[in-house]
Amino acid sequence: MIESKQIYYHDYHELKSLAEEWGVTLFGVGDVRDILNTFELLPKDISDGLVYGISMGIRLSGRIMESIKDGPTKLYYYHYRRVNIALDQVAIMITNHIQRSNFNALPIPSSQTIDWENQRAHLSHKAIGVMAGIGWIGRNNLLVNRDHGSLVRYVTVLTDMPLKVDSPSKEDCGECTECMKICPVGAIKESFNDYNRDLCLERLKWFSKKYHIGHYICGICVKVCKGKKPL
Ligand code: SF4
Ligand code: SF4
Repeated sequence: MIESKQIYYHDYHELKSLAEEWGVTLFGVGDVRDILNTFELLPKDISDGLVYGISMGIRLSGRIMESIKDGPTKLYYYHYRRVNIALDQVAIMITNHIQRSNFNALPIPSSQTIDWENQRAHLSHKAIGVMAGIGWIGRNNLLVNRDHGSLVRYVTVLTDMPLKVDSPSKEDCGECTECMKICPVGAIKESFNDYNRDLCLERLKWFSKKYHIGHYICGICVKVCKGKKPL
């Protein structure tokens, strides 16, 4: 038993160092059994038995985020897309690495909202990130990491490779209200449970038209969220 545990620990650290070598800033693994029923758009036969969620994040460029004043910029849009592609590439490489060890792995694309009106996706990268100890759900309804705030984008790989799991984060936003103060439509409230996704979505649509960006992005509440350790 002790011997097999050591093998799992070795796999965790091996995957983590490979991911970091490929550009990942944050890495964690969560036991996702308790949130399997929220993977509503993933066919059961595809996700069956994949109870470990590998959460990986790449930090956004601070200088590009500084370009955001009162709405998304083209620079942010291109960066956002490139970071998503980089995450998807890392997820594919981690998937192949796991499969070479004769386990199953399922990469979930980083930006994969299928139904924007209802904000539905295959799974929530944020929820996996919480289970993997990466951070907590902030007032801005995003995953917040203590060192990097919300300035990170994420991808998930589900697997049945039995890995060491991290403990879910027990932190929260504390006294910080930076995102509440700056949201142009007042969508962010004291509790993330009261976050108004309709107000936010309307503003994203407006930005998309105003700045001719073919995507629903904003970046304002991402930019100001610096977690517990301001950079
Ligand atoms: S993305 Fe923009 S509109 Fe939506 S909550 Fe954040 S700051 Fe407000
Ligand atoms: S800006 Fe502050 S209040 Fe808003 S999500 Fe980040 S840590 Fe929480």
